[in-house]
Parts: sequence; C-alpha cells; structure tokens
Amino acid sequence: MWIGVLTLLPEILEAGTSGGVFARAVAAGIIDLHVFNPRDFSTDRHRNVDDKTYGGGAGMVMMNAPLTAALVAAQAAAPAGSPVILMSPQGAVFNQQTAVSMVDMPGLILVCGRYEGIDERFVQNYVDMEVSIGDYVLSGGELPALVVMDAIARHLPGTLGNSLSIIDESHLDGMLDYPHYTRPVEYAGDQVPDVLLSGNHTKVNEYRRREALKRTFDRRPELMTGRTFSERDQKLLRESFAAGQNGADENEA
Ligand code: SAM
Repeated sequence: MWIGVLTLLPEILEAGTSGGVFARAVAAGIIDLHVFNPRDFSTDRHRNVDDKTYGGGAGMVMMNAPLTAALVAAQAAAPAGSPVILMSPQGAVFNQQTAVSMVDMPGLILVCGRYEGIDERFVQNYVDMEVSIGDYVLSGGELPALVVMDAIARHLPGTLGNSLSIIDESHLDGMLDYPHYTRPVEYAGDQVPDVLLSGNHTKVNEYRRREALKRTFDRRPELMTGRTFSERDQKLLRESFAAGQNGADENEA
C-alpha cells in the first residue's frame, strides 16, 4: 500500500517506522512509504513554514503555500484516488473499523499538523477526512500518523507472519481480546490456567471466548450494548457471572 506523509519532522516518522512489524512490512514491499517535508517546498529565503495567527493569540500556524506544494508532489506520486487525511484532535476518533476500512483505499496521504495547526483554507480545499487518535492534544500529527499506519499495516496481507494473529485481536469483532500466557507454566507461584494446557481445543476456545466476553463486560461494557449475542455467548456469559458469584477459580474453567 502506498502511504505518503506530509511532515515537518521526518525524523519522528523515521524513528517510529524503523523497527518491528511496520519496518518488516516496508522491507517486504507491503508498505511503500514516502515522506514529504513542506519545508523542502518553502520558497521563502528562510524556508519558513509557519506564521502568526490572524486575529492575534498565542502560537503559530502552518502556512498554506508550502503545505499545498508538498501535497501536489505527494498527489503526483500517489495512486489516483488516495484520500488526504489530516491528523487532528478535531477529527473522528480512529478505531479498528476505521483501520480496516482504510486497507481498501488505493493509497493514503497523511498530513501532520504542528504548532496551533494548519491554515484552515488548506483543510477546506484539500482534506477529505480528519482523524483523531483520542480526546487529548499532542504537539504534532506524527505520532497519530504512526498509530494510523501501524494499525492499517497489521491488516495488509503478509504483514503479520501468522495471519491468524489478527483474527482474535481486541476490537476486531467489537470485543476485547482474551488473556495470553507463555512459558513457564508456573511463575512466582502463579499458574497458567489448566485448560490452556489440556490440548482440548474446544475447551480452549470456550475458555478464550468466555474470558473475552467477561473482560469486555468488566472493562468496556459500552462495547456490548446494542449487540446481539449467540446462544453460546449468552451461555458463556451466564457461566462467567455464576463463576464470579461463587468465587470460582479461572483455572477450573
Ligand atoms: N490547536 C489545535 C486544536 O486545539 O485543535 C491543536 C493543535 S496540535 C498542538 C498540533 C497538531 O498535532 C494538530 O494540527 C494535529 O495534526 C496533531 N494532533 C494533536 N493531537 C492530536 C490527536 N489527538 N489526534 C490527531 N492529531 C493530533
């Protein structure tokens, strides 16, 4: 997937994409990442990219001209129809469904703001979508762009070594993931639940589904409202409530 990022701080992008799953996806050609720095397109003698805000007030604003020139360069290189997505605390909050929906786009052009943000005329003229990574304000759009790219990359065929890894993840079916354990079986007196060692895949699946339901109910109950649950899920939830009331041990599952 072709991804272009407009940023004044490419070093943050470089740091965030130089290791792990995302770096492997780039090395494998699954992600084709391009960075466009508006400063390289500034015609100003000092290569300025920001100026004071009209109407007064604190902070600087990213100027239209260098950003637009960087966007023109990005659009010339991007697959036709790639949307321009502005990282913004005012955008729709990014989630797993958004990530999955972006996988099918021809490419993506992500715009990272800095300072107080960018000239509103750029937003009006060129931005197709504004995306927030949460209700808080960061100093720039680079970390949000990294978050968005990483979440998307996980859904591109070939990125994850085991494509099954993606199937059970939190939020994919609107639920949280079940707990995971690895060796040793006993650590500092804490045991891995017996059912996971049983080799009985039906029991393991049942245990995992029950834990996912329980976790979602305990931690993010709002994810469960308005959903229809299968007979099996309802049974598992009832069992989970009953186990909670009886103080039963998870290991007995
Ligand atoms: N004055 C802006 C406001 O209150 O909406 C905030 C500007 S912020 C300091 C600078 C840039 O960081 C923004 O233009 C945006 O690109 C990015 N940014 C900050 N918080 C973000 C968030 N929660 N999600 C996505 N981008 C964010």
